[in-house]
Amino acid sequence: MSELLAARHHTWNNKAEIESSNLCGCCTCQQIFPPEEIVAWASGDVGNLEDLESLGGGTALCPRCGGDAVIGDKSGFSISPNFLARMNEAWFQKTIIGRPKPNN
Ligand SMILES: [Zn+2]
Repeated sequence: MSELLAARHHTWNNKAEIESSNLCGCCTCQQIFPPEEIVAWASGDVGNLEDLESLGGGTALCPRCGGDAVIGDKSGFSISPNFLARMNEAWFQKTIIGRPKPNN
Protein backbone atom coordinates (compact mmCIF):
# COMPACT_ATOMS: atom_id res chain seq x y z
CA MET A 1 0.00 0.00 0.00
CA SER A 2 2.73 2.45 0.96
CA GLU A 3 4.50 1.32 -2.20
CA LEU A 4 1.65 2.77 -4.24
CA LEU A 5 1.73 5.99 -2.25
CA ALA A 6 5.44 6.32 -2.97
CA ALA A 7 4.91 5.54 -6.64
CA ARG A 8 2.31 8.28 -6.89
CA HIS A 9 4.98 10.88 -6.15
CA HIS A 10 6.89 9.71 -9.21
CA THR A 11 4.03 10.75 -11.47
CA TRP A 12 4.54 14.43 -10.63
CA ASN A 13 7.37 16.68 -11.72
CA ASN A 14 9.07 13.65 -13.19
CA LYS A 15 10.60 14.94 -16.41
CA ALA A 16 14.21 14.02 -15.59
CA GLU A 17 13.21 10.65 -14.25
CA ILE A 18 11.01 9.84 -17.23
CA GLU A 19 13.68 10.84 -19.71
CA SER A 20 16.22 8.52 -18.14
CA SER A 21 13.79 5.61 -17.98
CA ASN A 22 13.67 2.80 -20.51
CA LEU A 23 9.97 2.23 -20.17
CA CYS A 24 7.05 4.27 -18.93
CA GLY A 25 3.52 3.43 -17.99
CA CYS A 26 0.31 5.36 -17.55
CA CYS A 27 -1.77 4.72 -14.46
CA THR A 28 -4.84 6.16 -16.15
CA CYS A 29 -5.10 4.07 -19.32
CA GLN A 30 -2.60 1.41 -18.16
CA GLN A 31 -0.62 1.55 -21.40
CA ILE A 32 3.13 0.94 -21.49
CA PHE A 33 5.33 2.93 -23.86
CA PRO A 34 8.91 4.21 -24.26
CA PRO A 35 9.62 7.72 -22.94
CA GLU A 36 10.30 8.87 -26.51
CA GLU A 37 6.56 8.75 -27.13
CA ILE A 38 5.91 11.45 -24.56
CA VAL A 39 5.76 14.78 -26.33
CA ALA A 40 3.72 16.87 -23.92
CA TRP A 41 4.59 18.03 -20.45
CA ALA A 42 2.54 19.89 -17.92
CA SER A 43 4.05 22.59 -15.80
CA GLY A 44 3.08 22.78 -12.16
CA ASP A 45 2.94 26.51 -12.53
CA VAL A 46 0.86 27.80 -15.40
CA GLY A 47 3.29 30.53 -16.19
CA ASN A 48 5.94 30.78 -18.83
CA LEU A 49 6.18 27.44 -20.63
CA GLU A 50 9.47 28.48 -22.17
CA ASP A 51 10.96 28.51 -18.70
CA LEU A 52 9.99 24.91 -18.07
CA GLU A 53 13.54 23.67 -18.55
CA SER A 54 15.00 26.16 -16.14
CA LEU A 55 12.49 25.17 -13.52
CA GLY A 56 13.95 21.70 -13.75
CA GLY A 57 10.55 20.16 -13.76
CA GLY A 58 7.58 19.15 -15.76
CA THR A 59 5.02 16.43 -15.42
CA ALA A 60 4.78 13.86 -18.18
CA LEU A 61 1.49 13.66 -20.02
CA CYS A 62 0.45 10.31 -21.43
CA PRO A 63 0.77 10.14 -25.24
CA ARG A 64 -2.19 7.76 -25.35
CA CYS A 65 -4.80 9.38 -23.12
CA GLY A 66 -3.33 12.76 -22.11
CA GLY A 67 -3.42 11.88 -18.43
CA ASP A 68 -0.79 13.14 -16.01
CA ALA A 69 -0.22 9.90 -14.13
CA VAL A 70 2.82 8.60 -16.03
CA ILE A 71 5.60 6.78 -14.20
CA GLY A 72 8.98 5.60 -15.49
CA ASP A 73 10.98 2.55 -14.48
CA LYS A 74 13.81 4.82 -13.32
CA SER A 75 11.62 5.40 -10.28
CA GLY A 76 12.59 1.94 -9.10
CA PHE A 77 9.18 0.48 -9.77
CA SER A 78 8.86 -2.12 -12.47
CA ILE A 79 6.43 -0.97 -15.10
CA SER A 80 4.14 -3.93 -15.65
CA PRO A 81 0.47 -4.28 -16.53
CA ASN A 82 -0.11 -5.62 -13.03
CA PHE A 83 1.58 -2.66 -11.38
CA LEU A 84 -0.35 -0.16 -13.50
CA ALA A 85 -3.58 -1.96 -12.73
CA ARG A 86 -2.87 -1.70 -9.02
CA MET A 87 -2.02 1.98 -9.33
CA ASN A 88 -5.16 2.61 -11.35
CA GLU A 89 -7.30 0.82 -8.82
CA ALA A 90 -5.69 2.59 -5.88
CA TRP A 91 -5.82 6.10 -7.27
CA PHE A 92 -8.69 6.25 -9.69
CA GLN A 93 -11.05 3.90 -7.97
CA LYS A 94 -9.95 5.33 -4.64
CA THR A 95 -9.40 2.13 -2.75
CA ILE A 96 -6.68 3.79 -0.69
CA ILE A 97 -8.51 6.97 0.21
CA GLY A 98 -11.94 5.55 0.71
CA ARG A 99 -11.09 2.45 2.66
CA PRO A 100 -8.68 3.00 5.55
CA LYS A 101 -7.53 -0.10 7.33
CA PRO A 102 -8.10 -0.22 11.08
CA ASN A 103 -5.18 -1.09 13.35
CA ASN A 104 -2.61 -0.94 10.63
ZN1 LIG B 1 -2.67 7.14 -20.47
